[in-house]
Amino acid sequence: FEPWNDPGAKPLIQFQNVTKKFGDFTAIEDLTLDIFEREFFALLGPSGCGKTTMMRMLAGFEKPTSGQIMLAGQDIDPIPPNKRAVNMMFQSYALFPHLTVYENIAFGLRRDRMPKADLEGRVHEMLRLTRLERFSGRKPHQISGGQRQRVALARSLAKAPKLLLLDEPLGALDKKLRQDTQFELMDIQEKTGTTFVIVTHDQEEAMTVASRVAVMNDGKLMQVATPDRIYETPNSVYVADFIGDVNIIEGKATATGDETYGVDWGEGRAPLVAKSARPFSDGQACHLAIRPEKVAISAERPEEAANAVQGKILDIAYLGNLSTYHVEIAGGTIVKAQTANTRRIARRSFTWEDTVWLSWTATAGVLLAE
Ligand code: ATP
Repeated sequence: FEPWNDPGAKPLIQFQNVTKKFGDFTAIEDLTLDIFEREFFALLGPSGCGKTTMMRMLAGFEKPTSGQIMLAGQDIDPIPPNKRAVNMMFQSYALFPHLTVYENIAFGLRRDRMPKADLEGRVHEMLRLTRLERFSGRKPHQISGGQRQRVALARSLAKAPKLLLLDEPLGALDKKLRQDTQFELMDIQEKTGTTFVIVTHDQEEAMTVASRVAVMNDGKLMQVATPDRIYETPNSVYVADFIGDVNIIEGKATATGDETYGVDWGEGRAPLVAKSARPFSDGQACHLAIRPEKVAISAERPEEAANAVQGKILDIAYLGNLSTYHVEIAGGTIVKAQTANTRRIARRSFTWEDTVWLSWTATAGVLLAE
């Protein structure tokens, strides 16, 4: 399932050079983006970057200042919010407190005057899909937070929208329930085949549920790609830093071979070695981004390593399955190295103030211009 790589695939949603201004403040700047049918698309970015504004434009609560938004090839501008095949599920769920679970789900269908038999069938299908059959007669205050979340989801899907917008849908749930619910959401999305666009500021959540992730900053798209590409090949320090943990070493690149660069990171230090498909001119300032789990830690200098630097352990964070070491290397730079604790002994392998070697391969890091 990779419609974004298929030149013949028709996008369900197209943002075409969309700009949204509030007075003279630009919330979204000249943004172009395609989202495909059956995608689970995540908008990710810090508070105020414009995620909710994009959702509100899709739902019809805001109009672009310039540019166009297309839904299934049609400009949505003239279509009023209630006539769009788009539904939005809010973080607050906005359930009717005096109505039962069943009636909450049926609400929109009744308003549309769906025939009784069809309506009953549809509500039961939604109750089954969200595993709420046993709770259909209860009121929202008689069920748990996770169940309320599922009622809101069932209600938003009842009218079979083409597109469902989910604004921080799991924000009200605690971490454990949130993680379980992510898998449920994915399952429901797959079963219904509805296109989901989710807004979240939780990068782990976006990476878990999404087919593709858009990382935003200041009303602009920084990178749009699958979760693994975003993580493995971020296109900027901003994206590398926003998604997961990363070490950044600044230096100057010099080509030393085919897609291979030496990174001069300080006088008297051996240059680091990095592969990069992205070209750099000799002497160009660069940032070498390396994930902590790609940095090995050892007592002796590994013989074969493309990169090996010595340092002193400042801190060790024991996380159960993982340990993270904070190691100070030349120039006062702190590098994080993460090891998987597959053996019980692992946490005691090194200790505070030990001098150790950090090593990584030439392909472990990503060379970034900015
Ligand atoms: P959060 O994660 O905090 O919800 P967000 O990425 O969803 O943030 P938006 O709500 O889209 O951000 O807001 C983007 C920017 O536009 C913010 O700086 C916000 O203050 C501004 N903004 C949003 N709505 C309006 C409005 N009606 N009038 C003026 N400014 C607005």
